[in-house]
Amino acid sequence: MKRTVLITGASRGIGKAAAAAFAKAGYNVAVNYNSSADAAEKFCAELNCSGFSAKAFKADVSVRSQVDEMISGIRDSFGSISVLVNNAGIAEQALFTDISEEMWDRMFAVNVKGAYNCTQAVLPDMIHSKYGRIINVSSMWGISGASCEVHYSAAKAALIGFTKALAKEEGLSGITVNCVAPGVVATDMNSHLSEEDMDILRENTPVGRIGTPEDIVEAILFFASENSSFMTGQVLSADGGYIL
Ligand code: NAP
Repeated sequence: MKRTVLITGASRGIGKAAAAAFAKAGYNVAVNYNSSADAAEKFCAELNCSGFSAKAFKADVSVRSQVDEMISGIRDSFGSISVLVNNAGIAEQALFTDISEEMWDRMFAVNVKGAYNCTQAVLPDMIHSKYGRIINVSSMWGISGASCEVHYSAAKAALIGFTKALAKEEGLSGITVNCVAPGVVATDMNSHLSEEDMDILRENTPVGRIGTPEDIVEAILFFASENSSFMTGQVLSADGGYIL
């Protein structure tokens, strides 16, 4: 039976690369997006033209009613979801003293509440089928902390706590909950950084290069596989050795 995966924030970057990999691995792929409708629809059309199974679903993951509507649409199209990748995220650089309440709340709304909303919406089906894989995309900054990114680092650290606590709660239901902590990856999220900044980040990465979305996808696929059933509550760094 074909399994269904929901990848949040799959219109671009790491989520898009993950969606392509899951499609090639034989999953029905629900591609969530928020603002990039054209990109998501075009991407799904390309996957379907290549014989894969994908559909785009709009939802701001921070809004529960939109998430519930999305999950019900996915159920109608593909049946229940057995793999959830909480990937949708935003980042922002600011001095801590300049982080407004609004900036703080938005950071947590997308990165943390988004994972809460999506996970709570898919869990009943996973519990019912006694199988599930939940993979949260954190960041190396959630482990080590980044200067001028206190709200981002705190939100990504929260996802690690979320992962560990939920792993304990859902283990007996056949559901694993794991976390991937990427290093610096060449996506839109880093497009504001200067070449000089990227060079510094590259130099501080032991393998001597910036990551690709595909580098992160390998770790996500590992946690999604049936063979990783004895691993839960783990944080797997895919960062070229940046955090050691
Ligand atoms: P990206 O290229 O900026 O893409 C972000 C994705 O998240 C887009 O598909 C965007 O969808 C979606 N998104 C943003 N807000 C959303 C919302 N409210 N609801 C639903 N979707 C939303 O980012 P990326 O680099 O691929 O990052 C993916 C994940 O990896 C994030 O969680 C990020 O924090 C994490 N990460 C990235 C890096 C890095 O260096 N790139 C490093 C560590 C961790 P729309 O365009 O449709 O709005």
